[in-house]
Amino acid sequence: MESCQDESVFYKENIFELNSIYELIFNYSPIGIFCFDKNGNIVLFNEKFTEILGSERNKLINFNIFKNVKDSNILKAIEKCLSNNEVSYYGEYTSVTGNKTVYMRLILKPLLNNKDKTIIGGIGLVEDFTQQHKAEQDLILSKSQILAILDNLPSGAWLKDLDGKYTAVNQRFSEVCRKPFKKIIGYTDKDIWGSELASKIVEEDFKVITNKKKITNRVKFDLFGTEQIWEEFKTPVFGKDGEVVGTCGYFTDIKSNIETETALLNEKKYFEYLFNNSPDAIIITDKNSTVLRVNKKFVSLFQYSEDEVLGRNIDDLIAEGKEIETARNITLMAHSGNLTSYEAVRLKKDRTKIDVNILGVPITMPDGTVVVYGIYQDISKQKAEHKELIEARQKAVESDKIKSNFLANISHELRTPLNGILGFSELLMSEIKDDNHLDMINNIRISGNRLLETIDTIIDVSIIESNKLNLELTEVEIIDFIEKIIQPQSKVAFDKGLKFEFKYDSHIIFKTDRRIFQQIILNLVRNAVKYTNIGKITVGVSKAEVMGNSFLMVSVEDTGIGINKDDFDKIFQHFTQVSEGYSRRYEGTGLGLTITKHYVELLNGYITLESELGKGSIFKVFLPLNEDDIIESFDIFNNKKNKKKSLLLIEDNKANADFIYFCLKDLYDVDVTSKLSVALQLIDEKQFQLIIMDIIDNNIDSDILFLNSIKSKIKKIPVIALSSNKDRSQINYLLNSGFTDYLSKPFRKEDLRKIIFDNISNI
Ligand code: ADP
Repeated sequence: MESCQDESVFYKENIFELNSIYELIFNYSPIGIFCFDKNGNIVLFNEKFTEILGSERNKLINFNIFKNVKDSNILKAIEKCLSNNEVSYYGEYTSVTGNKTVYMRLILKPLLNNKDKTIIGGIGLVEDFTQQHKAEQDLILSKSQILAILDNLPSGAWLKDLDGKYTAVNQRFSEVCRKPFKKIIGYTDKDIWGSELASKIVEEDFKVITNKKKITNRVKFDLFGTEQIWEEFKTPVFGKDGEVVGTCGYFTDIKSNIETETALLNEKKYFEYLFNNSPDAIIITDKNSTVLRVNKKFVSLFQYSEDEVLGRNIDDLIAEGKEIETARNITLMAHSGNLTSYEAVRLKKDRTKIDVNILGVPITMPDGTVVVYGIYQDISKQKAEHKELIEARQKAVESDKIKSNFLANISHELRTPLNGILGFSELLMSEIKDDNHLDMINNIRISGNRLLETIDTIIDVSIIESNKLNLELTEVEIIDFIEKIIQPQSKVAFDKGLKFEFKYDSHIIFKTDRRIFQQIILNLVRNAVKYTNIGKITVGVSKAEVMGNSFLMVSVEDTGIGINKDDFDKIFQHFTQVSEGYSRRYEGTGLGLTITKHYVELLNGYITLESELGKGSIFKVFLPLNEDDIIESFDIFNNKKNKKKSLLLIEDNKANADFIYFCLKDLYDVDVTSKLSVALQLIDEKQFQLIIMDIIDNNIDSDILFLNSIKSKIKKIPVIALSSNKDRSQINYLLNSGFTDYLSKPFRKEDLRKIIFDNISNI
C-alpha cells in the first residue's frame, strides 16, 4: 500500500471508509486472523481462520483457548503472548472445533490498552502450511532415499562444482580414498588423490565441461601401493539455464571382475580344448536329442561335417532299426539326470557300422535346462581283438585237445610195439645160447629201453606243459619204494664197475604221488650212474629240519664228472646238456632234470645241487613232511649204538605170527613164541622194549594173570593186546587190567607199525 501524503487528513475525511477498508481486509484476508482477550476467550476471528481450522463460526464464538485447547505448544505460545511477547510458532495443530490437523504458521502479537499500555489480549495470524510441509517432507524423504542408495552403491559416486571442488560424495567414495567426508567436501582431486592422478582427472573433467558430453573410461593406476582398474563414468551437470554448473559421476572397481572374467575365459578355453581334442567323439544335445555341438573327433569318426549334424536328431542320424528305440530311451534317462553307459552299434555317414561305448552325461545349465553330453568311444578295435582272442582261445583249446589226444595215441602206439620188442628180447635172451646172438639181442633190449625212456620223458614234458598233471596221493613206504626204483640202476652201476650204496636212517610211510616220486628218484639215480665212470653212487634217505620245517631228504651222490658251478642253473632248463662238450659221449634228451625239478616243486619241495668238476655231484631233494601226510615215521636205529629195538611177540597162531614177524622184521629185532613159559624165560634172558600179546577171547582172565606175571618181572614195559573182539567194554577191561594199548584184528601193516611206534617211542 502506498502511504498517503497527509495521513491525518485522510483519516478525518474518510473515517468510515477506512473502517470499512479494514473490515474488508479482515474478512477477505488469505491469512486467518483471530483476537483473544487476556482470559483466552476468542473475541474476534475472520472467515479464513474458521476455514483453516475446518471449524464453524458459531463453534468459535466464546471459545476459551485455555479451557479447550490441549496442545501444550499452543497454550505456551498464547501465554507467552499474553506476557507481552511476540511469538512465532511453526508446527502441527489439531483443531478442537474443526477436528482438522493443520501444519500452520502462527504469529501472535500482544494487544495493549492505548491508555495505560496494559495487556488486554492478543492477535493471532494463522497461515496453512500443510501442503508445503508435505512437499518438504516428501523432498526430505526422497533425498534420504537417494542418499541411502548412493551410500550403498558398490561404486564411488561424486558431485563437483566448476572449480573442481567436491560438493557431494557417497560412502564408497570415502572408503576408496580413505578420507572422511569432511576432508572431501570442498576439497579438490589434488587434495584427495595426489597431483599425479588428479592431473588426469582434471583433464577429463575439462573435456566433459567443454564438450558438454558424458564419457566412460577404463583406467588403470596405482593407489596406496596396489594396482587398480576402474571403470568410470562422468557427465556434466547443467544449471537451470542450460549452462554447465559442475560435473558428477561414479567409478567402479572392476579388477576382481576382470580376474574372474580372465579365469572364466581360461577355463572356457581349457574345456573347449578338451572338447575339441578329446580322443572320443563328443556331442551335446538338448532334450529333444537335437545336436547343439559336436567335436572334431565326432566329425572324423562319423564322417559327417559339423553343418550336417547341427540341429539334427542324433538318434535318427546314427542309429538304425531297434537301436533307435533303445537310443531314445537312454537319451530320455540321461535327460532325467541319470548317468548312462552302454555298448551299441552306430552308423557312419557311409552306413558302415562301428562298435561304440556310449556315455550319456546329463548337465544342468544355469537356467535349469538339462543338456546331455554324449561321449562315443570307438571300441571296434577292442571288439575285433576280443573276438580274435575268443577264437584263438577256442583254437588253442581245440589244438590242446588234439595234442593231448595225439600224445595219448602216440604214447600208446609207440609203447605197445616197444613192449613187444623188449618182452621178446628178454624172452630170447633166456632162450639163446650163442654168445654173439646174445650180445645182439642184449643190444636190441638196451636200445629199446633207451627209446622207451625217451618216449616217457617227452610225454612227461608234454603233460607238465599242458598243466594236466593231477597229483594222486597214496601211502608210500619210502624205503621199500626207493629200493625197488633203484634196484635196476644198481645193477647197471655194478656192470659199469661202480659201487652202489643205499643208506637210510628213517622209516616213513607218507602220502605222495608214486609215479612222480619214482620219476624224481629214477632221473637222479640214472644221471648219477650215467655221468660216473669210476667210484661210487650213494643214495640216502633221512629226515631233515630246515628253518623249523620237517622234510624228507633224498640225496643222490656220485663220484662222476661233476658240473661246473656256472652251469648249475642251466642244467634245470629244457634240452640243456652241459656235458655236450664231451661230443655227446653221454646220451640223453636234456629234459630229465627239467622234469625232476618241476616234479619236486609240484610236491611242494625243492632240489639242491653241490658239485665239483671231475669230483662228483650231490643232488638233494627236499619234500615237506606234513603231519597229516605222515602215516608212520620212526628212526630205524635207536640212539644207543644204532641197535634195533627188541620186541617179543606172544602168538599161538602160526600164520598170524608169520605175518606180524614179516611186518616188523626190518625195523625190530622180533622174538616170537606161542608158549607163556618160553615167553617168561625170554623176558629173563633179553631186554625187550615192547611185548605184543595175542588175547584168547574166551580166556581173558588167564591172559590178565599172565600179564601180571610179566609186569612182576619188568614193571614199565608196554604190552599191546591183539584181539578180534571189538566190544568196547572188553577193550576197557583189558586197558584197565594193565595192557598199555589195544589193536583189533584184522589189522594192516601200517596200523601195527604205528601202534608200536607210538608206544615204543615213549620209552
Ligand atoms: P640228460 O638227458 O642230458 O641227462 P638232464 O636234464 O637229466 O638231461 O641233465 C642235464 C645235464 O646236466 C646233463 O646233460 C649233464 O650235462 C648234467 N648232469 C645231470 N646230472 C649229472 C650228474 N650226476 N653228474 C654230472 N652232470 C650231470
